[in-house]
Amino acid sequence: MLIDIHTHNLLVDCTDQLRFLVGKHSLGIHPWELKTPFNETLCAEKFLKLKMQFQKKTLAIGECGLDRRRKGIVNCDIQEIVLGWHMDWALEVQRPLILHCVKAEADLLKILKAKKYKGRILLHDFAGDFEIARSFLKYDCYFSFGSRLFNSKTLANEVMKLLPREKIFLETDDQTEFTLVDLYQKAVLSLNIDGKTCEELFFSNLTNFFSDFNDISSADIINDLRTSTIS
Ligand SMILES: [Zn+2]
Repeated sequence: MLIDIHTHNLLVDCTDQLRFLVGKHSLGIHPWELKTPFNETLCAEKFLKLKMQFQKKTLAIGECGLDRRRKGIVNCDIQEIVLGWHMDWALEVQRPLILHCVKAEADLLKILKAKKYKGRILLHDFAGDFEIARSFLKYDCYFSFGSRLFNSKTLANEVMKLLPREKIFLETDDQTEFTLVDLYQKAVLSLNIDGKTCEELFFSNLTNFFSDFNDISSADIINDLRTSTIS
């Protein structure tokens, strides 16, 4: 069973894949949605509506986070406010937080420290170096890797190799130029393991990532993820 921990694409039936679909398995306001001019009241209303949609089968909170590169969205101070709402919500409902973080790792670390954040997080499409990754390991943090693994100009392969194996995931995100199978083949080479071990690793990581949530069993979770494919 192959695991895609972060995708925006609903693909045709792949019975051997579990895909974590943002917007279906998780709820949140993406920082790119925080466009200027910004109305905090409207945004807070939108957030409250999302909170009302939460059900037992909502497996995570997000995608939310910080982005210092994207043009046309609010500054990081306002993004931090909205991120704070999501963090409190994730703790309240005991779900992992799916985080988008672009050129804002230092800001995110500052927030986690200030809040003494104890919840579980996934840093999707992790783009930092290993030193930054290590700073995040002080928290209950997982990291996912996707398109960067195919780009030798990035540090993704090196960082993935150095991180504890039980903390990593693969993701297709919004990309369609490569498949989940391509990613697994890449991981087999990068991690220097065989295909079966690779499958077992990411499956075991998935089980751990969603463990400790009292109201939902791993069987429920796997079942919900299965329904993200169209048959
Ligand atoms: Zn995404």
